[in-house]
Amino acid sequence: MSDKTESSLQRYHAKRNADRTPEPMGKPQRGEDKQRFVVQKHAATTLHYDFRLEADGVLKSWAVPKGPSTDPREKRLAMRTEDHPLEYLDFEGAIPRGEYGAGKVIVWDTGTYRNLTERRGKEVPVAEAVERGHVKFWLEGEKLRGGYALTRTGRDGEKERWILVKVADDEADARRNPVSSQPASVLTGLTLEAVGEETSDQS
Ligand code: MN
Repeated sequence: MSDKTESSLQRYHAKRNADRTPEPMGKPQRGEDKQRFVVQKHAATTLHYDFRLEADGVLKSWAVPKGPSTDPREKRLAMRTEDHPLEYLDFEGAIPRGEYGAGKVIVWDTGTYRNLTERRGKEVPVAEAVERGHVKFWLEGEKLRGGYALTRTGRDGEKERWILVKVADDEADARRNPVSSQPASVLTGLTLEAVGEETSDQS
């Protein structure tokens, strides 16, 4: 495991108190043939969708306020966030009040993806593509399928602004709008509201 990968989760750990949040802490892991992705719906200070791609043993992450679209004409703002541990792939629950990212989380979609990023006819590894500011991939999720591209459009201090857009292919559909028509978790079938009720019942 390289030092670069090891340090990739430092920002994640620095923001979290392992004694207080149910979120996984995690270590970077070696890559596998099939790379995974997850989109988590997160009711933090503002509702957003956390879009995460497995690469180099961690989850490269963006916060997408409006969520992913299936319409190639829709450009969705995606703010880059810190790399997350792979154990975050199936995290659902409530991050306690007062902790970083406090609020409910459900797994809105998950599955595998293939990297489609090329430069001068050669595949660019995903982690390198992210640093270069453009990554293209094919999703095999339950709600999201087909080609998508993430492109950095600017920086705002430490923050990187990106856009997430659906590639115009056979899986594109301008009318589907899964963010509103398919709101529930693909793991449990629960909506964010139901996760909240379960959590308050336990406390
Ligand atoms: Mn989030």
